[in-house]
Amino acid sequence: MDFLFQSHGLYIGIIALFGLIVGSFLNVVIYRLPKMLEQQWKQECHECFEEFPAPTEQKAFNLSIPGSHCPSCKKPVKPIDNVPVLSWLLLRGKCKHCSAKISARYPMIELLTAATVGVTAWVIPGSWWSLAVVFATFALIALFFIDFDTMLLPDQITLPLMWQVF
Ligand SMILES: [Zn+2]
Repeated sequence: MDFLFQSHGLYIGIIALFGLIVGSFLNVVIYRLPKMLEQQWKQECHECFEEFPAPTEQKAFNLSIPGSHCPSCKKPVKPIDNVPVLSWLLLRGKCKHCSAKISARYPMIELLTAATVGVTAWVIPGSWWSLAVVFATFALIALFFIDFDTMLLPDQITLPLMWQVF
């Protein structure tokens, strides 16, 4: 990792670019993790108490399944149309197939993630500690938006943060 830590400018650039890609993944986490939890809770309620109906949604649903698709026409999004920020700009915020509007929130979260970890890398020059803070920043961004949307702070994100020594 020393090559990464040697030049401060290069480190900031690589971390910001990495942030753009992770930001794209955070969009998936922010959208899907609360839904996955809800499905899991319904399943657990159903297993413990017969009066709770079985969850109707039986299809596999996690961070990787189903693949990225348009919520409106259900057509899969090709990797080329899934490039952080750029694809949204090129498609003018619309689905390629059905022209349904794609929220500007997705590229905004990608840019926010890139900018926040870019600043982190600028303030804390390349080191393992800097990388740890970058990863904590990813977690905090996901937590912020999940909290904003659902008022949940999922254990899956908060508990691993405990082991980052603050
Ligand atoms: Zn569509």
